[in-house]
Amino acid sequence: SESEEYVSPTKKLDTGEGHSQKVATHYNRLQECGLAERSRSRIIHLRNFNNWMKSVLIGEILDKVGRGHRGVAVLDLGCGKGGDLLKWRKARISRLVCADIADVSVEQCRQRYNDMRSRGYPGERIFNAEFITADCARELLSEKLSDPKLRFDVCSCQFVYHYSFESEAQADTMLRNACERLRPGGFFIGTTPDAYELVKRLEASDSNSFGNEVYRVTFQQKGSYPLFGCQYDFSLEGVVNVPEFLVYFPLFEEMAKRYNMRLVYKKTFHEFFEEKIKNEQNKILMQRMQGLEAYPGDDRARLASDSPGEYDHAEKI
Ligand code: SAM
Repeated sequence: SESEEYVSPTKKLDTGEGHSQKVATHYNRLQECGLAERSRSRIIHLRNFNNWMKSVLIGEILDKVGRGHRGVAVLDLGCGKGGDLLKWRKARISRLVCADIADVSVEQCRQRYNDMRSRGYPGERIFNAEFITADCARELLSEKLSDPKLRFDVCSCQFVYHYSFESEAQADTMLRNACERLRPGGFFIGTTPDAYELVKRLEASDSNSFGNEVYRVTFQQKGSYPLFGCQYDFSLEGVVNVPEFLVYFPLFEEMAKRYNMRLVYKKTFHEFFEEKIKNEQNKILMQRMQGLEAYPGDDRARLASDSPGEYDHAEKI
């Protein structure tokens, strides 16, 4: 069953500022670079890999919620500049709510959506969309939705949730936003860095940081990993460099139970890849995505996301 009324464990929303402003400013400043520049980047393969994973995940979840039978509504929590818009189009959903803390990114996302609509195929029915600028770790989306009664079939939170683990109240509000408007049987899907892997690599290093010429992860200290606020800085050739926080997955899973969610699937990126690449369609998609570099200007190439991590999805019961 599903409870309408929720009592936060901390009884109130966290209204302090924390790192939220830094995150918004950072993502707002990130320049929307063209594909030619991106192609030159050494991280393009990583971006394409991440996009492949998101595409496979989105495709599978849409099959589960039964696209085509009725309108599917999706919440893209931390939508960024709209890197997943084409995936939602391909998935033939009927309604999308995009929310992000960075107002410039939300505007770019809206612009991309408008462009996509105006260039749609004749007769194509592209989903309706709504755009919300909000700190989803501190504000309630249900209060900002144009239709407060709207129920989502899927909430997708791609490479975002770890920002909220700064405090319990923030992590809980983010989770509440993700889950409270899901209909029974709906799914919360997401990708987030793997805390076990991060700590394992840190412990194996002889300093507070590890990485290579492409990426670097720097912790403030070693040996102590608080459940919330365990901060590290992640940089990927200057693309992302704002504080992130470890997400201790068993805790996240427990917290999600408060919203009547149960874990149905969780894999590392490596495991996910090994499992899904066996499928011929997924293999073809990977080849196409890795080949995008060769086709600058191709609309499909306007796909972007960031760091390596972990895959999970949970189902509302
Ligand atoms: N989901 C998009 C994708 O996969 O392409 C963007 C991922 S990007 C790595 C992280 C996004 O999370 C940024 O757009 C950032 O502004 C957003 N974000 C971080 N903290 C947030 C918060 N508290 N509320 C809403 N969005 C947040």
